[in-house]
Amino acid sequence: MKFTSIYVHIPFCRRKCNYCDFVSYPVEEQQQYFSVYGDLLLKELNLWQQQECDFSQLESIYFGGGTPSLLPVETISKILSDLPQAAEITLEANPETVDLVYLQQLRKTGVNRLSLGAQSFNDQALQSMGRCHTAEQIKAAFAAARQAGFTNINLDLIYGWPYQDKSILQADLQAALVLGSEHLSLYGISLSEQSPWGQKKLAGQLAIADSDLSADMQEIAMETLESAGLMQYEIANYAKEGFASRHNCAYWRRQNYLGIGCAAASCYIDKRWSNLRSLCDYTVNVEQGRLPVCEQETLSIDEIIAEAIFLGLRLRQGINFNQFAEQYGLKPENRFAKQIRQLVNNGLLVVEDGSMRLSKKGILLGNEVFYKFV
Ligand code: SF4
Repeated sequence: MKFTSIYVHIPFCRRKCNYCDFVSYPVEEQQQYFSVYGDLLLKELNLWQQQECDFSQLESIYFGGGTPSLLPVETISKILSDLPQAAEITLEANPETVDLVYLQQLRKTGVNRLSLGAQSFNDQALQSMGRCHTAEQIKAAFAAARQAGFTNINLDLIYGWPYQDKSILQADLQAALVLGSEHLSLYGISLSEQSPWGQKKLAGQLAIADSDLSADMQEIAMETLESAGLMQYEIANYAKEGFASRHNCAYWRRQNYLGIGCAAASCYIDKRWSNLRSLCDYTVNVEQGRLPVCEQETLSIDEIIAEAIFLGLRLRQGINFNQFAEQYGLKPENRFAKQIRQLVNNGLLVVEDGSMRLSKKGILLGNEVFYKFV
Protein backbone atom coordinates (compact mmCIF):
# COMPACT_ATOMS: atom_id res chain seq x y z
CA MET A 1 0.00 0.00 0.00
CA LYS A 2 1.49 3.28 -1.09
CA PHE A 3 0.68 6.35 0.99
CA THR A 4 1.64 9.93 0.18
CA SER A 5 0.26 11.45 3.39
CA ILE A 6 0.36 10.48 7.04
CA TYR A 7 -1.87 11.90 9.75
CA VAL A 8 -0.85 11.48 13.40
CA HIS A 9 -3.63 12.04 15.93
CA ILE A 10 -2.77 13.38 19.39
CA PRO A 11 -5.93 13.00 21.47
CA PHE A 12 -4.96 15.09 24.49
CA CYS A 13 -5.82 18.65 25.46
CA ARG A 14 -5.33 20.76 28.55
CA ARG A 15 -9.09 20.72 28.98
CA LYS A 16 -12.11 20.19 26.79
CA CYS A 17 -13.47 23.26 24.99
CA ASN A 18 -17.21 23.88 25.33
CA TYR A 19 -17.98 23.15 21.69
CA CYS A 20 -15.46 20.40 20.96
CA ASP A 21 -16.33 17.75 18.42
CA PHE A 22 -12.91 16.07 18.20
CA VAL A 23 -11.58 12.97 19.89
CA SER A 24 -9.54 14.48 22.70
CA TYR A 25 -9.24 13.88 26.42
CA PRO A 26 -8.06 16.18 29.24
CA VAL A 27 -4.39 15.31 29.62
CA GLU A 28 -4.25 15.53 33.40
CA GLU A 29 -6.87 12.79 33.74
CA GLN A 30 -5.05 10.58 31.22
CA GLN A 31 -1.42 10.77 32.36
CA GLN A 32 -1.02 6.99 32.28
CA TYR A 33 -1.81 6.98 28.54
CA PHE A 34 -0.14 10.27 27.68
CA SER A 35 3.18 9.16 29.18
CA VAL A 36 3.40 6.14 26.83
CA TYR A 37 1.62 7.61 23.80
CA GLY A 38 4.79 8.53 21.86
CA ASP A 39 6.05 4.94 22.18
CA LEU A 40 2.68 3.61 21.04
CA LEU A 41 2.73 5.79 17.93
CA LEU A 42 6.17 4.46 17.04
CA LYS A 43 4.99 0.93 17.61
CA GLU A 44 1.88 1.43 15.49
CA LEU A 45 3.97 2.93 12.72
CA ASN A 46 6.18 -0.11 12.90
CA LEU A 47 3.14 -2.41 12.66
CA TRP A 48 2.06 -0.64 9.46
CA GLN A 49 5.59 -0.88 8.07
CA GLN A 50 5.38 -4.64 8.62
CA GLN A 51 2.22 -4.61 6.42
CA GLU A 52 4.51 -3.45 3.61
CA CYS A 53 3.19 0.08 3.54
CA ASP A 54 5.22 2.17 1.14
CA PHE A 55 6.02 5.67 2.41
CA SER A 56 8.83 6.31 -0.07
CA GLN A 57 6.89 9.08 -1.84
CA LEU A 58 5.59 10.84 1.23
CA GLU A 59 4.47 14.40 0.54
CA SER A 60 2.94 15.45 3.84
CA ILE A 61 2.86 14.55 7.51
CA TYR A 62 0.30 16.20 9.77
CA PHE A 63 0.23 16.12 13.57
CA GLY A 64 -3.37 16.99 14.49
CA GLY A 65 -5.51 16.73 17.55
CA GLY A 66 -6.30 17.35 20.21
CA THR A 67 -3.29 19.44 21.01
CA PRO A 68 -0.14 17.97 19.40
CA SER A 69 1.99 20.74 20.93
CA LEU A 70 1.56 19.00 24.29
CA LEU A 71 3.95 16.33 22.99
CA PRO A 72 7.61 16.68 23.94
CA VAL A 73 9.73 17.69 20.95
CA GLU A 74 11.81 14.48 21.38
CA THR A 75 8.70 12.39 20.66
CA ILE A 76 7.95 14.33 17.47
CA SER A 77 11.58 14.01 16.46
CA LYS A 78 11.56 10.22 16.98
CA ILE A 79 8.43 9.77 14.87
CA LEU A 80 9.84 11.90 12.06
CA SER A 81 13.14 10.07 12.10
CA ASP A 82 11.20 6.84 11.44
CA LEU A 83 9.71 8.28 8.24
CA PRO A 84 11.15 9.53 4.96
CA GLN A 85 11.39 13.31 4.59
CA ALA A 86 8.15 14.94 3.44
CA ALA A 87 7.84 18.31 1.73
CA GLU A 88 5.26 19.57 4.20
CA ILE A 89 5.24 18.65 7.90
CA THR A 90 2.56 20.40 9.94
CA LEU A 91 1.97 20.48 13.66
CA GLU A 92 -1.15 21.92 15.25
CA ALA A 93 -0.41 23.99 18.33
CA ASN A 94 -2.49 25.76 20.90
CA PRO A 95 -1.03 29.20 21.69
CA GLU A 96 -0.69 28.69 25.45
CA THR A 97 1.37 25.52 25.03
CA VAL A 98 4.31 26.92 23.05
CA ASP A 99 7.18 29.31 23.71
CA LEU A 100 10.24 30.34 21.75
CA VAL A 101 12.44 27.50 23.02
CA TYR A 102 9.85 24.83 22.19
CA LEU A 103 9.27 26.30 18.72
CA GLN A 104 12.99 26.57 17.99
CA GLN A 105 13.48 22.92 18.91
CA LEU A 106 10.39 21.94 16.95
CA ARG A 107 11.66 23.68 13.83
CA LYS A 108 14.87 21.64 14.08
CA THR A 109 12.90 18.36 13.92
CA GLY A 110 11.84 19.18 10.34
CA VAL A 111 8.35 20.47 11.17
CA ASN A 112 8.02 23.31 8.66
CA ARG A 113 4.40 24.36 9.01
CA LEU A 114 2.68 25.47 12.18
CA SER A 115 -1.08 25.60 12.57
CA LEU A 116 -2.11 27.80 15.50
CA GLY A 117 -5.55 27.24 17.02
CA ALA A 118 -6.56 30.88 17.50
CA GLN A 119 -10.35 30.53 16.98
CA SER A 120 -11.00 34.20 17.88
CA PHE A 121 -9.16 37.30 19.06
CA ASN A 122 -12.01 38.26 21.36
CA ASP A 123 -11.03 37.44 24.96
CA GLN A 124 -14.60 37.22 26.16
CA ALA A 125 -15.43 34.75 23.41
CA LEU A 126 -12.28 32.71 24.05
CA GLN A 127 -13.21 32.45 27.70
CA SER A 128 -16.78 31.41 27.02
CA MET A 129 -15.57 28.80 24.48
CA GLY A 130 -13.45 27.31 27.25
CA ARG A 131 -10.20 28.03 25.42
CA CYS A 132 -7.07 28.11 27.57
CA HIS A 133 -5.54 31.21 25.96
CA THR A 134 -6.06 34.91 25.38
CA ALA A 135 -5.69 37.00 22.24
CA GLU A 136 -2.33 38.25 23.56
CA GLN A 137 -1.11 34.66 23.81
CA ILE A 138 -2.03 34.05 20.16
CA LYS A 139 0.03 37.08 19.14
CA ALA A 140 2.94 36.01 21.35
CA ALA A 141 2.90 32.46 19.96
CA PHE A 142 2.80 33.80 16.42
CA ALA A 143 5.74 36.16 17.04
CA ALA A 144 7.71 33.33 18.66
CA ALA A 145 6.98 31.05 15.70
CA ARG A 146 8.30 33.66 13.29
CA GLN A 147 11.39 34.15 15.45
CA ALA A 148 11.92 30.39 15.49
CA GLY A 149 11.98 30.38 11.69
CA PHE A 150 8.47 29.27 10.72
CA THR A 151 7.69 30.84 7.35
CA ASN A 152 4.48 28.88 6.80
CA ILE A 153 1.90 29.48 9.52
CA ASN A 154 -1.82 28.79 9.55
CA LEU A 155 -4.31 30.44 11.88
CA ASP A 156 -7.53 28.58 12.67
CA LEU A 157 -10.59 30.73 13.25
CA ILE A 158 -14.19 29.72 13.82
CA TYR A 159 -17.31 31.73 13.15
CA GLY A 160 -20.97 31.52 14.00
CA TRP A 161 -20.41 31.05 17.73
CA PRO A 162 -23.03 32.35 20.18
CA TYR A 163 -23.31 36.13 20.41
CA GLN A 164 -20.84 36.68 17.56
CA ASP A 165 -22.07 39.36 15.21
CA LYS A 166 -20.63 40.55 11.92
CA SER A 167 -18.55 43.30 13.53
CA ILE A 168 -16.86 40.80 15.86
CA LEU A 169 -16.09 38.60 12.87
CA GLN A 170 -14.59 41.59 11.06
CA ALA A 171 -12.45 42.35 14.10
CA ASP A 172 -11.25 38.72 14.21
CA LEU A 173 -10.36 38.77 10.53
CA GLN A 174 -8.51 42.06 10.85
CA ALA A 175 -6.54 40.82 13.85
CA ALA A 176 -5.53 37.72 11.88
CA LEU A 177 -4.56 39.81 8.85
CA VAL A 178 -2.36 42.06 10.97
CA LEU A 179 -0.33 38.99 11.95
CA GLY A 180 0.10 38.15 8.27
CA SER A 181 -0.12 34.36 8.32
CA GLU A 182 0.40 32.54 5.03
CA HIS A 183 -2.76 30.48 5.54
CA LEU A 184 -6.06 30.90 7.31
CA SER A 185 -8.74 28.29 8.00
CA LEU A 186 -12.20 29.56 8.82
CA TYR A 187 -14.79 26.98 9.81
CA GLY A 188 -18.37 27.49 10.93
CA ILE A 189 -18.82 26.25 14.47
CA SER A 190 -20.05 22.70 14.78
CA LEU A 191 -21.38 21.51 18.12
CA SER A 192 -21.00 18.00 19.40
CA GLU A 193 -24.24 16.99 21.13
CA GLN A 194 -22.18 15.76 24.04
CA SER A 195 -20.39 19.08 24.46
CA PRO A 196 -21.57 21.61 27.06
CA TRP A 197 -22.65 24.01 24.30
CA GLY A 198 -24.31 21.19 22.36
CA GLN A 199 -26.31 20.25 25.44
CA LYS A 200 -27.35 23.86 25.99
CA LYS A 201 -28.39 24.20 22.37
CA LEU A 202 -30.49 21.03 22.63
CA ALA A 203 -32.16 22.49 25.72
CA GLY A 204 -32.91 25.68 23.77
CA GLN A 205 -30.62 27.77 25.98
CA LEU A 206 -28.05 28.72 23.39
CA ALA A 207 -28.24 29.91 19.81
CA ILE A 208 -25.51 29.81 17.19
CA ALA A 209 -25.64 31.63 13.86
CA ASP A 210 -28.48 30.43 11.63
CA SER A 211 -27.85 29.58 7.99
CA ASP A 212 -28.54 33.14 6.77
CA LEU A 213 -26.15 34.75 9.24
CA SER A 214 -23.55 32.03 8.54
CA ALA A 215 -23.76 32.72 4.81
CA ASP A 216 -23.44 36.49 5.44
CA MET A 217 -20.40 35.88 7.61
CA GLN A 218 -18.80 33.61 5.05
CA GLU A 219 -19.35 36.25 2.40
CA ILE A 220 -17.73 38.91 4.59
CA ALA A 221 -14.76 36.61 5.13
CA MET A 222 -14.40 35.83 1.43
CA GLU A 223 -14.34 39.52 0.51
CA THR A 224 -12.10 40.62 3.37
CA LEU A 225 -9.53 37.87 3.02
CA GLU A 226 -9.35 37.84 -0.76
CA SER A 227 -8.85 41.60 -0.91
CA ALA A 228 -5.97 41.10 1.54
CA GLY A 229 -4.28 38.62 -0.80
CA LEU A 230 -5.43 35.34 0.75
CA MET A 231 -7.01 33.25 -1.98
CA GLN A 232 -9.96 31.05 -1.07
CA TYR A 233 -8.66 27.79 -2.53
CA GLU A 234 -11.19 25.66 -0.64
CA ILE A 235 -14.56 26.47 0.93
CA ALA A 236 -13.05 27.06 4.39
CA ASN A 237 -9.38 27.66 3.56
CA TYR A 238 -7.46 30.69 2.34
CA ALA A 239 -3.80 30.99 1.45
CA LYS A 240 -1.20 33.24 -0.07
CA GLU A 241 0.07 31.96 -3.40
CA GLY A 242 2.01 28.73 -3.00
CA PHE A 243 0.84 28.11 0.57
CA ALA A 244 -2.24 25.91 0.12
CA SER A 245 -2.03 22.99 2.54
CA ARG A 246 -0.66 19.99 0.66
CA HIS A 247 -1.95 17.66 3.33
CA ASN A 248 -5.53 18.88 3.25
CA CYS A 249 -5.48 19.00 -0.55
CA ALA A 250 -4.66 15.28 -0.46
CA TYR A 251 -7.95 14.70 1.40
CA TRP A 252 -9.94 16.81 -1.04
CA ARG A 253 -8.31 15.06 -4.00
CA ARG A 254 -9.11 11.73 -2.41
CA GLN A 255 -5.50 10.56 -2.32
CA ASN A 256 -4.37 7.72 -0.08
CA TYR A 257 -3.52 8.66 3.49
CA LEU A 258 -2.68 6.66 6.58
CA GLY A 259 -3.82 7.82 10.01
CA ILE A 260 -1.99 6.64 13.08
CA GLY A 261 -2.92 7.19 16.70
CA CYS A 262 -6.10 6.79 18.69
CA ALA A 263 -9.20 7.47 16.51
CA ALA A 264 -7.16 8.34 13.40
CA ALA A 265 -8.88 7.74 10.05
CA SER A 266 -7.31 6.32 6.88
CA CYS A 267 -8.25 6.02 3.22
CA TYR A 268 -6.78 3.69 0.62
CA ILE A 269 -8.46 3.52 -2.81
CA ASP A 270 -11.85 1.96 -1.99
CA LYS A 271 -11.11 1.21 1.69
CA ARG A 272 -11.71 3.46 4.67
CA TRP A 273 -10.97 2.61 8.25
CA SER A 274 -10.62 4.20 11.69
CA ASN A 275 -8.56 3.41 14.72
CA LEU A 276 -10.06 2.65 18.12
CA ARG A 277 -11.38 5.75 19.89
CA SER A 278 -10.85 4.56 23.45
CA LEU A 279 -7.37 5.31 24.80
CA CYS A 280 -7.45 2.11 26.80
CA ASP A 281 -8.41 -0.10 23.83
CA TYR A 282 -5.91 1.64 21.56
CA THR A 283 -3.12 1.16 24.09
CA VAL A 284 -3.88 -2.50 24.77
CA ASN A 285 -4.06 -3.39 21.08
CA VAL A 286 -0.84 -1.65 20.08
CA GLU A 287 1.03 -2.95 23.13
CA GLN A 288 0.01 -6.48 22.15
CA GLY A 289 1.20 -5.96 18.59
CA ARG A 290 -2.21 -5.69 16.93
CA LEU A 291 -3.22 -2.94 14.51
CA PRO A 292 -5.73 -0.79 16.44
CA VAL A 293 -8.27 -0.71 13.60
CA CYS A 294 -11.94 -0.91 14.50
CA GLU A 295 -14.14 0.28 11.65
CA GLN A 296 -13.45 -0.74 8.08
CA GLU A 297 -15.61 -0.29 5.03
CA THR A 298 -15.24 -0.96 1.33
CA LEU A 299 -16.89 1.67 -0.80
CA SER A 300 -18.81 0.85 -3.95
CA ILE A 301 -17.78 2.64 -7.14
CA ASP A 302 -20.88 4.86 -6.84
CA GLU A 303 -19.89 5.85 -3.31
CA ILE A 304 -16.34 6.59 -4.41
CA ILE A 305 -17.56 8.79 -7.25
CA ALA A 306 -20.01 10.69 -5.03
CA GLU A 307 -17.25 11.23 -2.49
CA ALA A 308 -14.75 12.36 -5.14
CA ILE A 309 -17.25 14.90 -6.48
CA PHE A 310 -18.25 16.11 -3.02
CA LEU A 311 -14.60 16.58 -2.03
CA GLY A 312 -13.35 17.90 -5.37
CA LEU A 313 -16.03 20.57 -5.54
CA ARG A 314 -14.84 21.96 -2.22
CA LEU A 315 -11.73 23.12 -4.05
CA ARG A 316 -11.87 26.46 -5.86
CA GLN A 317 -10.44 24.92 -9.02
CA GLY A 318 -13.20 22.30 -8.93
CA ILE A 319 -13.12 19.12 -10.98
CA ASN A 320 -11.44 18.71 -14.33
CA PHE A 321 -13.60 16.36 -16.42
CA ASN A 322 -10.70 14.66 -18.24
CA GLN A 323 -8.69 14.06 -15.09
CA PHE A 324 -11.76 12.71 -13.33
CA ALA A 325 -12.51 10.34 -16.22
CA GLU A 326 -8.91 9.12 -16.16
CA GLN A 327 -8.99 8.47 -12.42
CA TYR A 328 -12.49 6.97 -12.09
CA GLY A 329 -13.29 5.72 -15.59
CA LEU A 330 -16.41 7.85 -15.85
CA LYS A 331 -17.25 11.21 -17.41
CA PRO A 332 -19.05 13.24 -14.76
CA GLU A 333 -20.45 15.62 -17.39
CA ASN A 334 -22.35 12.65 -18.90
CA ARG A 335 -23.27 10.75 -15.77
CA PHE A 336 -24.53 13.85 -13.94
CA ALA A 337 -25.62 15.89 -16.98
CA LYS A 338 -29.08 16.65 -15.56
CA GLN A 339 -27.82 17.70 -12.12
CA ILE A 340 -25.05 19.82 -13.61
CA ARG A 341 -27.49 21.60 -15.95
CA GLN A 342 -29.86 22.37 -13.07
CA LEU A 343 -27.08 23.65 -10.84
CA VAL A 344 -25.67 25.83 -13.62
CA ASN A 345 -29.15 27.24 -14.33
CA ASN A 346 -29.55 28.03 -10.61
CA GLY A 347 -26.24 29.87 -10.57
CA LEU A 348 -24.60 27.41 -8.17
CA LEU A 349 -22.13 25.77 -10.52
CA VAL A 350 -19.85 27.09 -13.26
CA VAL A 351 -18.80 24.86 -16.16
CA GLU A 352 -15.93 26.15 -18.28
CA ASP A 353 -12.64 25.02 -19.77
CA GLY A 354 -13.48 21.34 -19.28
CA SER A 355 -14.08 21.73 -15.54
CA MET A 356 -16.90 22.35 -13.11
CA ARG A 357 -16.59 24.41 -9.96
CA LEU A 358 -18.80 26.11 -7.42
CA SER A 359 -19.87 29.67 -8.16
CA LYS A 360 -19.72 32.21 -5.35
CA LYS A 361 -23.38 31.46 -4.62
CA GLY A 362 -22.54 27.74 -4.73
CA ILE A 363 -19.79 28.22 -2.14
CA LEU A 364 -22.30 29.82 0.21
CA LEU A 365 -24.87 27.07 -0.43
CA GLY A 366 -22.42 24.18 -0.80
CA ASN A 367 -24.65 21.57 0.81
CA GLU A 368 -27.39 22.17 -1.77
CA VAL A 369 -24.88 21.34 -4.48
CA PHE A 370 -23.30 18.30 -2.82
CA TYR A 371 -26.70 16.80 -2.11
CA LYS A 372 -27.43 16.60 -5.84
CA PHE A 373 -24.48 14.25 -6.44
CA VAL A 374 -25.03 11.89 -3.51
S1 SF4 B 1 -8.22 22.46 21.84
FE1 SF4 B 1 -9.27 21.70 20.02
S2 SF4 B 1 -9.30 19.46 20.24
FE2 SF4 B 1 -8.78 20.34 22.24
S3 SF4 B 1 -10.71 20.46 23.32
FE3 SF4 B 1 -10.39 22.46 22.34
S4 SF4 B 1 -11.40 22.26 20.33
FE4 SF4 B 1 -11.18 20.21 21.17
